[in-house]
Amino acid sequence: MPSVEIIAVGSELLTPERVDTNSLWLTAQLNELGFEVTAKSIIGDQRERLTQAYRQALASADVVISTGGLGPTEDDVTRDCAAEALGVPLEHWESLWDDLKAKFARMGRPIPENNRRQASVLQGGESLPNPHGTAPGQWFGREGGALVLLPGPPRELKPMFSNHVMERLRPLAGASVLVRRTLKIYGLGESAMDEMLAPLYPRHPEVTVTTLFTALDLEVHLLASGATSELGLRKVTPLELAVREVLGLYVYGETAQSLAEVVGQQLLAAGKTLVTAESITGGLVAQRVTEVPGSSAYFLGGFVTYSEDMKHHVLGVPEGMLAQFSAVSAPVAEAMAAGARARSGADYALSLTGYAGPDGGTEEDPVGTAYLGLAGPAGVESRRVKFVGDRELVRSRCAQAALDWLRRALLA
Ligand code: ATP
Ligand code: MG
Repeated sequence: MPSVEIIAVGSELLTPERVDTNSLWLTAQLNELGFEVTAKSIIGDQRERLTQAYRQALASADVVISTGGLGPTEDDVTRDCAAEALGVPLEHWESLWDDLKAKFARMGRPIPENNRRQASVLQGGESLPNPHGTAPGQWFGREGGALVLLPGPPRELKPMFSNHVMERLRPLAGASVLVRRTLKIYGLGESAMDEMLAPLYPRHPEVTVTTLFTALDLEVHLLASGATSELGLRKVTPLELAVREVLGLYVYGETAQSLAEVVGQQLLAAGKTLVTAESITGGLVAQRVTEVPGSSAYFLGGFVTYSEDMKHHVLGVPEGMLAQFSAVSAPVAEAMAAGARARSGADYALSLTGYAGPDGGTEEDPVGTAYLGLAGPAGVESRRVKFVGDRELVRSRCAQAALDWLRRALLA
């Protein structure tokens, strides 16, 4: 499989504020084309350092792709450093300069002389049009590979790659493609899942398994190469089925699916509706549900009832119950869910009440404890959950737990 090295250029990517997302997107595209990304780096806008990075990458990988630093300013050094590393001069293309002038004329702005830089192309290279910005990209072909310069802004880079780079890379691609399957898992700890899955791996040596742990979910990535994606899938699928079998209901979806999306599909398929009644999460469940396009087909709305008064007046939780059990209790969670369901006419109601911290909580129910309620056609139930983490994490985990409960209830 031919190798690719990615260089993300830009000092801002070395600050705590900015993340290099271009290389992730590019890697997915490249894998699909049959390239393996063997190294990537982030280099600041510094001439010597960047030239050295290009030299090193050109010596070790078939294809080198860099993103960023193609702007018109003094600190946009990508073109200069690439030329230096390749040992070729930059040429001024009058046609590109004309294009740039026309672009500025259309925006009704005078063109700064600085922008001349953007009309410089590596001698022997090709210019790649950028309809979404000013910086043209560049393709420089070489023995069995290429050096590709792409603009930094994702909305400029992505179409340029798809429309102009992909077709040029395809003839260089290897005879095999990488196939990836991703399973999304909820409700298992890192080591628990590993214990369940580890025995499967030796039986599928041709599949590379990576597990990814986020604050909310687990992901299992299964990766294999094959002459075609079909042949790659033939290696991945048996392991995918084995993983699904071992993990059972812990697997909630695949690839980019969110838990809220999966629950939404279930509700839609069943022709059922949902309402939420949230205290501890302050609307987070409703937010996740409504993040999904088309959620209006099954989500009626959400109550955010923070005070006892609101729980009583809006949801009909009896005052006596609040006084007797406190707002964070199983009976109140159930009454919130039942009240929300009755008052909205939804088929299902999810409720959440708990202590997010950092203060609050009781001896029996310390910070991180919440009661979830689920009211549905079969009646109303509650369950107690306990999470660790700061306020944000506890709230986030409570929301996810409630969604997963509904997912499992809808499967039953
Ligand atoms: P421009 O003409 O817009 O200056 P450029 O090619 O010089 O284009 P940069 O100046 O390096 O690009 O980056 C412009 C913006 O693009 C950055 O501020 C950042 O928001 C985004 N960007 C750059 N590199 C990346 C990256 N690797 N991942 C995600 N976003 C990026
Ligand atoms: Mg720039």
